[in-house]
Amino acid sequence: EEVVSPYAAVDERDVETSLRPKSLKEFVGQGRVREQLGVVLDSAKARRQPPDHILLSGPPGLGKTSLAFIIAADLGASIRVTSGPAIERAGDLAAMLSTLDEGDVLFIDEIHRIARPAEELLYVAMEDFRVDVVVGKGPGATAIPLDVAPFTLVGATTRSGLLTGPLRDRFGFVAHMDFYADAELESVIARSARLLDIEIEPDGAAEIARRSRGTPRIANRLLRRARDFAQVRADGRLSLEVCRAALDVYDIDEMGLDRLDRMVIDALVRQFNGGPVGVSTLALAVGEEVQTVEEVAEPFLVRAGLLARTPRGRIATRAAWEHIGVPLPHDEARLF
Ligand code: ADP
Repeated sequence: EEVVSPYAAVDERDVETSLRPKSLKEFVGQGRVREQLGVVLDSAKARRQPPDHILLSGPPGLGKTSLAFIIAADLGASIRVTSGPAIERAGDLAAMLSTLDEGDVLFIDEIHRIARPAEELLYVAMEDFRVDVVVGKGPGATAIPLDVAPFTLVGATTRSGLLTGPLRDRFGFVAHMDFYADAELESVIARSARLLDIEIEPDGAAEIARRSRGTPRIANRLLRRARDFAQVRADGRLSLEVCRAALDVYDIDEMGLDRLDRMVIDALVRQFNGGPVGVSTLALAVGEEVQTVEEVAEPFLVRAGLLARTPRGRIATRAAWEHIGVPLPHDEARLF
């Protein structure tokens, strides 16, 4: 497992649950999303009605699942949790919807990966609180409408562009989550350190924050790895020096780039002369899945100003050439 993967490792689930913020007030950063969501929830409570369906969109590890639990807790509602890939047949979803009580929150993670027939059933349920269960096959098949209790769907997606129009249109509120600023990550780290009983100095927290790719999940993981390092190689206290030494062990550079990021940039510059090159060719060159390059490496590289997506493919920016330490060819220099 890559130490800077934005996805949770299986053995991390428990510690992640224990570190989840429990209320909007405890949720660090994402000021706009918090404010908008606060209004959505408060007004629904004032009307004593379930709020509109909510879509949480953004890269992995930014707090979408945490927000889904916060929404349910704030509404005093029960939450049912599933994911797009887990819903293989429309019937699975119909069964789940039919057991919901009024006001329940249904959380569907990775909702862009839901199978098409289930998706069609879902958007009818979202709009009309009804599912049509098809009984029989062929010309004799009949659709039996079943009522579904008014519920709130909270969907999370890392790829909102992959949602079909009809599904997207049925969300009354879309929260766009963005990478966190370093100062926000410092707060996340300080809070987690308190909960995990870890002693960390402010400049140590700042160093971890800077290398966490704008992602709370990674910040929390690097904090735990630095804690491990401090326990066996130092006196347990996370000073700036100890944090730096720990992060170097895990091969995370000054900008927060890991091995895969550096390989992508390196291939782009050295093998493809800065691009443009298609993402699948690029993925092949670094020996990774296209999805990993697209969802893990690229968003961060774009944000760091090292890679740009163009209609003709991916290109390395001037900063990327500088980061790799390869002089920009003369005719390329004119491009920037
Ligand atoms: P996602 O569903 O977007 O992948 P999660 O909600 O599972 O992300 O968050 C991953 C981890 O990061 C959680 O354990 C949580 O403790 C932490 N985290 C995420 N966002 C925040 C935040 N705004 N404040 C504090 N901790 C956060």
